[in-house]
Amino acid sequence: MKQVFCRDLGNDCDFKAAGNLEEVMAAVAAHAEQVHKIVLNDEIIEAVKGVMKEV
Ligand SMILES: [Zn+2]
Repeated sequence: MKQVFCRDLGNDCDFKAAGNLEEVMAAVAAHAEQVHKIVLNDEIIEAVKGVMKEV
């Protein structure tokens, strides 16, 4: 399972996403848009993958 903490992306935020790659990216995309008003682009997607951990 993969896990991403929003905090690791430089946000003061306790959100975390876990699941397979598709689920994590979908959850992060929805969270980023709703909470941080950010639409994921290639650069952000790379950053998300960079802080993604295998758990
Ligand atoms: Zn967040």
